Amino acid sequence: MFSFWGKGLLKGLSVTGKVIFRKNLTEEYPLVKPNIPSQWRGGFAYEKDKCIACGICVLECPNDAILLVKEKDENNKNVPKEYKINLGYCLSCGLCVESCPVNCIHFTKEFESATYLKKESVLDLFNNQNLEAERSTYGKPVEKKEEKEEGIL
Ligand code: SF4
Ligand code: SF4
Repeated sequence: MFSFWGKGLLKGLSVTGKVIFRKNLTEEYPLVKPNIPSQWRGGFAYEKDKCIACGICVLECPNDAILLVKEKDENNKNVPKEYKINLGYCLSCGLCVESCPVNCIHFTKEFESATYLKKESVLDLFNNQNLEAERSTYGKPVEKKEEKEEGIL
């Protein structure tokens, strides 16, 4: 009887012993911010001065999540007057980011976008370009080495 319990105890302790020295996988969010993958598709940043108001992103968006209002400048060129993305409809497919001919719309590494109010899920990127947010590398070539270092591959 003793040997039966002793064996089980030793087995259990050996498992504990192995696990206790493993790398800790628990992330202490929200006290510690998680390590977001480099190609994360969270929020958006928009460089309105680069935008040529071509509307390609709007046409590409499969869920009609982008609102673009354009106007003519003093040189009769199209410029944006309003640019909004509704995160409530956005599928994070990346088609807008990939198709922009002047590379002015970017994904950011933001991830806390949950909200209680529907209207708060609409990003007014014309008035808040969100340029200070950390950018994702989505749509840009990334060294496989970097991904490996981040533990993604
Ligand atoms: S990432 Fe969102 S906004 Fe961009 S094309 Fe896809 S659904 Fe539309
Ligand atoms: S595709 Fe790029 S340049 Fe064209 S309207 Fe969209 S954000 Fe602006």
